[in-house]
Amino acid sequence: MPDACDAIVVGSGPNGLAAAITMARAGCSVLVCEANRTIGGGARSAELTLPGFVHDVCSAVHPLAAGSPFFKTLPLERLNLEWIQPEIPLAHPLDDGSAACLCKEVDCTADQFGGDSRAYRRLMSPLARNWEDLAIEILQPMLHLPRHPITLTRFGIPAICPATLLAKYLFKHEPARALFAGIAAHSFLPLEAPVSSAFALVLGLAGHAVGWPIPRGGSQQISNTLAAYLRELGGTIEVNHRLENLRDLPKSRAILLDLSVWEFLRIAGQDLPSRYHRKLQFFRHAPGIFKIDYALSSPIPWKAEACCRAGTIHLGGGIDEIAAAERDVSRGRIPGRPFVLVAQQSLFDETRAPGDHHTLWAYCHVPFNCGADMSDQIESQIERFAPGFRDCILARHKISAADLARSNPNLAGGDISGGAANLAQLLARPILSPTPYRTPLRGVYLCSASTPPGGGVHGMCGYHAARVALRDCFATRER
Ligand SMILES: Cc1cc2nc3c(=O)[nH]c(=O)nc-3n(C[C@H](O)[C@H](O)[C@H](O)COP(=O)(O)OP(=O)(O)OC[C@H]3O[C@@H](n4cnc5c(N)ncnc54)[C@H](O)[C@@H]3O)c2cc1C
Repeated sequence: MPDACDAIVVGSGPNGLAAAITMARAGCSVLVCEANRTIGGGARSAELTLPGFVHDVCSAVHPLAAGSPFFKTLPLERLNLEWIQPEIPLAHPLDDGSAACLCKEVDCTADQFGGDSRAYRRLMSPLARNWEDLAIEILQPMLHLPRHPITLTRFGIPAICPATLLAKYLFKHEPARALFAGIAAHSFLPLEAPVSSAFALVLGLAGHAVGWPIPRGGSQQISNTLAAYLRELGGTIEVNHRLENLRDLPKSRAILLDLSVWEFLRIAGQDLPSRYHRKLQFFRHAPGIFKIDYALSSPIPWKAEACCRAGTIHLGGGIDEIAAAERDVSRGRIPGRPFVLVAQQSLFDETRAPGDHHTLWAYCHVPFNCGADMSDQIESQIERFAPGFRDCILARHKISAADLARSNPNLAGGDISGGAANLAQLLARPILSPTPYRTPLRGVYLCSASTPPGGGVHGMCGYHAARVALRDCFATRER
């Protein structure tokens, strides 16, 4: 480790690497310390099941990276990051053998909804056309002066509604309601909670604007690309270095922590003023996930043909069933029929599995820190829409919510969002401020998904935090 550098970034997740790149681009010397032996945090791939099967350890599908203003500034093509766009971004099978689909075009999506097609078009079209303006507004702290107030208002009014209320008010039939509810469930909120609609809108609109792409070769390619670019800019990355105490770091003018609020409290809690410390202690976790990766002998035998052409599949039936499952999770109960998210990358990327074989990535929501094995419930949900699925399984790799922190301390208890994304914590993430990245410790910034705009692979937390650090510590160096 060098004796001193301009900026140290702790953690090499997408936000840590985004922060490091932003600092290095401004001319700073940058060192990244990563606890794990591989870089990437929530964007990694590994042979989890059998040799030759490449599984995404965490993130799999990347509408937020593809739609991220930060990623747009990177020379991704030159660095060989290729986004693969599945023919259908998302399919949501129903018990009658049909599937509601989120297609790339708003019109194509709306057209399947019969009596609900007009309502879908009216909700999504004007916002999808203005995605770039909207992305800038929503992928930053909520407390800010909007540059696109009309677009933001048009988004904000439906976004604040509970998903069940908005879906049932706007749509009269199950396909549109179920599709909307499934996307809203990415919020990890009960679907009766305020702002659960925001997630359905953001991810649905991103699907229309930039698709729900997967990176060729696996999510590790995203991290490798960011790391390659950082090294081009002169940055250094050190792996196998878990920071135990903030005081152990060498001298630097800025320290950017790609750490969850709880990991931050662990390594720096004793140095924090009591008022700020108390605020962080009130910050709440999101529920957890149980994840399972499969090596398969063949593609999944979906009943609904559209599912065979989709990158992502949402399993949970109709809106009431999904809402009941999410309600159970939020109350600390294990749902009998959980909402399951599935990605079938190898259908579109032949580098993921050998020969005619396939991979499958799936997880369901469970209560925080739950140790239960949910593989039976997940497989029953897949069998429900793809009879014969179990016969295709060659191998499984499972990880419970309670075990997720083993490979990344930020995932303690299985919370993959850096803290609940309820209304209060969207506003105050982790504190209410236009610059919530700044901590009371001089030159120390939080830049993880526990800061705005929150979870997902988009790098915007790191990008914004680095800009604040550049202003504070290197007034003349921001570009
Ligand atoms: C199973 C799963 C599925 C997901 N699916 C998707 C998806 O499909 N699409 C999507 O956009 N997002 C997805 N996400 C969410 C996404 O991965 C995260 O929101 C994102 O990675 C957060 O980035 P980050 O940089 O804030 O933190 P992280 O990616 O968690 O990175 C933090 C890094 O810091 C390191 N670290 C922690 N503590 C220390 C320490 N004390 N010292 C040194 N290093 C430390 C960790 O090892 C890690 O590498 C998923 C997450 C999981 C877990």
